[in-house]
Parts: sequence; C-alpha cells; structure tokens
Amino acid sequence: MREIKHWLDGAAIEGTSGRQLPVWDPATGEQQAYVVAATKEETDRAVASALKAFPAWRAASLSRRAEVMFRFRELVDANRKEIASLVSKEHGKTEADAGGELARGLENIEFATGAPHLLKGGYSEQASTGVDVYSIRQPLGVVAGITPFNFPAMVPMWMFANALVCGNTFVLKPSEKDPSVSLLLADLLRQAGLPDGVFNVVQGDRVAVETLLSHPDVQALSFVGSTPIAKAVYEAGTKAGKRVQALGGAKNHMVVLPDADVNAAADAAVSAGYGSAGERCMAISVVVAVGAIADPLVAAISERIGRIAVGPASDPSAEMGPLITREHRDKVAGYLQNTEGEVVVDGRDAPVSSGPGFFLGASLVDKVSTGEALYKDEIFGPVLSVVRTDTYDEALKLVNDNEYGNGTAIFTRDGGAARQFQYDVVCGMVGVNVPVPVPVAYYSFGGWKSSLFGDLHMYGPEGIQFYTRSKVVTSRWPDPATSEVDLGFPKVR
Ligand code: NAD
Repeated sequence: MREIKHWLDGAAIEGTSGRQLPVWDPATGEQQAYVVAATKEETDRAVASALKAFPAWRAASLSRRAEVMFRFRELVDANRKEIASLVSKEHGKTEADAGGELARGLENIEFATGAPHLLKGGYSEQASTGVDVYSIRQPLGVVAGITPFNFPAMVPMWMFANALVCGNTFVLKPSEKDPSVSLLLADLLRQAGLPDGVFNVVQGDRVAVETLLSHPDVQALSFVGSTPIAKAVYEAGTKAGKRVQALGGAKNHMVVLPDADVNAAADAAVSAGYGSAGERCMAISVVVAVGAIADPLVAAISERIGRIAVGPASDPSAEMGPLITREHRDKVAGYLQNTEGEVVVDGRDAPVSSGPGFFLGASLVDKVSTGEALYKDEIFGPVLSVVRTDTYDEALKLVNDNEYGNGTAIFTRDGGAARQFQYDVVCGMVGVNVPVPVPVAYYSFGGWKSSLFGDLHMYGPEGIQFYTRSKVVTSRWPDPATSEVDLGFPKVR
C-alpha cells in the first residue's frame, strides 16, 4: 500500500514511527494509502530545516519572493486537473467542487504576488526638526499551519501564500485524512524556485501539532479545524508565547424573509446546504423561515433534493459525493434518527446510503427545535434543518444567540431589511442574497464567537499583518553644527 510521505528540505521522505494512519477512499469505503504519523523528532527536524532556511529567504528581495509566487501560480494553474483529481480521490468531493476550491486558493496566491505593495510601510518626514520616522514590516521566522480535511488545497494556500511571500519559512501539518495534495503543492513550490527548507510538510496527528505548539523556534501558528481543537490550540500556543489565529467550527443560518423569491431562496439553500455534502465551514446548516414563506420554501427545497445526483467523484454527472469517513457518516445519520423535528427527506433511504462507500443522501428536517442536538451541534453533513419563526426579530435572535458566528445570510427583496440585518447580526461574514459569503482574497476570512480564537482573521490584509510584525524607526542624520547635549525627554514641537 502507498505511503504518503513527509516533505523536508525540498524532498519527500518516509516516516519512521511505524504509526500508520489510514487514508480511505470515501467513495468505495476501502483504504487507499496511509501516512506514518510524524514523531516529535521528525517534527523538530522540519522546524530545524525551516529555521536554517529563514535568513536567506528573508534576505531574498521582495521582487524575488513575489516572482516565486507568480511562478507557483502558473504551475498550480497548469496542474489544476491533477490537483482537483487528487483532492477528489481522498476527500470524495466532485472534481468540479475540487476545481472550485482550487480557484479560490489561486486567488490567495494571486493576492500574495502583490506583497511588494502590501508590505510598504509609512514614512513621516520632519517628525521633529531633522528627524524622520518610518515603519517597516518584517517576517516572524518559522511559522506553522495546521489544516482540516475539508479543503486540503485551499486552506493551506490561505496560509502559506502570504506567510512565504512575507519572508517567513513554513511547516504545514495537513489533515491526515487527505494529505497527498500537500506534497504536490510542495513539489510545485520547489519547481517555482522556492529554496529547499522554506516549506516543509509533516504528516500526522496531535503529536506533530503538540510539538509545533511548544517548539521555541515556531513563532506563529495558523489553525483551521473544529472548535474544541481550535480553542485548545489557541490556548496552548498563546501560553507558549506564540501568535495564534485558530479558526473553528460553524452553524450557519440562512434567514429567509416572507418577501424573498421562494425559488431563488430554495436554489441557494440546496446549493449551500448540500454542496460538498455539507462539509464546508460556510455550508448553510439552518434555514430560518420567517412567516408564511415556510411551507412553500420547504416544498421547493424538498422538490430540488429529489434531483440531486449523489455519487462518486469518478462519475462526471455526480453533484454530491460521500462523507469523509464511515464514523462521520454514521454520526450524521444518527442526528436523523434522534431528531424531534419532521424528517421531510431522509437521506438514509437513498440507495447510495446502503453501499460500502461513506454516502448519505441529502436530508431535510422541518420544525427543528432549538433545544435539540440537531440544532445545537455542528453537523458537517448533508442535513438541512428548518426552524420556523414568526418575525424578523425572532430570526435575528436565533443567529445572535448561537454559539458560532462564522457565516450567515439573509434572503429578501427589501434593501432596508437586509441593511438592518447586516447592522444587527453578530457574525463575521454576512451574505445578502448570497448563501456562502466567503470573502474574496483581498478581504480577510474569519468568524466571530466560537468560530475564531485570536485577533486577526485569515488571508487578505489581515493575513499580511498576521505574518509580519511592525518596526518603527526614528532617525536623525546629525548636523554637527546643531548638535548639543539635552537631557530632557525627546520633544517633537
Ligand atoms: P479537526 O479539528 O478534527 O482537525 C483539524 C486539524 O487538527 C487536523 O490537521 C488534525 O490532524 C488536527 N487535530 C485533530 N485532533 C487534534 C488534537 N487533539 N490535537 C491537535 N491537533 C489535532 O477538523 P476536521 O474534521 O479536519 O475539519 C472539520 C472542521 O473544521 C469543522 O469543524 C469545520 O467547521 C472546521 N473548518 C473551519 C473553517 C473555518 O474557516 N472556520 C474552515 C474549514 C473547516
């Protein structure tokens, strides 16, 4: 069976721990490969390699670093098909969906090519007589990224594109469930001219993560994953004196006001609820139907569910693939078993759900109560809940009382109502008639509440801030004619 290796000093290397973690083919239910989970020593070696590479990479000119990103962008673009197919093979999402993930990742690489402009500091001439003050942004050193299974190409790109172009060196710990694409990206970075050691990959689990969290040479950590781990990573990392941004889980609500176009809202709910089998942190999980729109909306959604083609990524007509593991599929199906709501469409009845792959058909549960687990937990599967409310205020309260605050959306034809929602809602990313409002690469991505631990959001301008620190220089070139001793506190006026 194929071993998916680590990447160290510009080459793939085998693991030594003997601790094998399976990589499944979610469409067939069979194991297709394995990673050998990194030991503490192997993780230390990756950090040492990144530390050694840091001074020369930091010293490379801005144009040179941007040039590597330009070349990497071209290589990723040229290899789109291969990357998407690798993602689909291990994750299970359709190739079209994997291609969409890659396109959003590419945006982040393109943003990073603008680093020479983004890293410009400020300059104040004559801050005092003959004194100038200016600010510069410098890289942190070795930084690490820990990523989830659901976007094995895009989420690493959210992190390393900006981190590298700012002059840092990087250690990536990808998800052990779909790790192959990390090696392909590492090789493309090498082909783009990135010096050996600047980007390293350690495969594995919490052993590698805990080593990175406590390693004195790791300056900062970016994490994306579930909320309990995000919180633990944030606490451990900041306690060890590191800069940490840790993005967690979500429970995204889509509020549909009575004046919304029923068909457009149903199309959006189905696309955002079942795309990628609901395994997106920006997936819609709860439709909040306000007033009389509930009955027609539930009917329109269930009619569309009947037309979703569920199947393996190898079938070009498939629109929705399997879940990531058997355990996860069973856990999601368990919510359908235990709900107090009305199961309008039960995905367990779909023929694919009884096969050996980790499939579960799209499911719709109406009249879900806010006290039950189906409403409270992040499901991360193809199950859409409908909660009915009488008023906008009740709908808003639901969103704002929720533990998570990643994304939300409002569907309405009333501009004033949408603006009020944007103003009122306690959530990091808001869509107005847009169900999956993932910000473009030149804004930043991040939720509020239990969806993000840390101060800076990911990628975009806040990503540049996260991966650099500012230095302010106050400078005078003395004129011997005016030099004198002055023990007073420096004044500017
Ligand atoms: P996960 O939390 O299980 O794993 C994320 C990473 O942490 C993986 O690399 C994993 O190996 C590592 N990890 C797992 N357990 C650990 C432990 N005990 N100690 C240290 N490291 C550990 O998440 P997942 O199942 O891979 O991904 C799905 C989750 O990610 C969902 O909750 C989803 O909402 C979230 N997610 C959030 C965003 C966002 O931007 N907010 C984006 C994508 C996914």
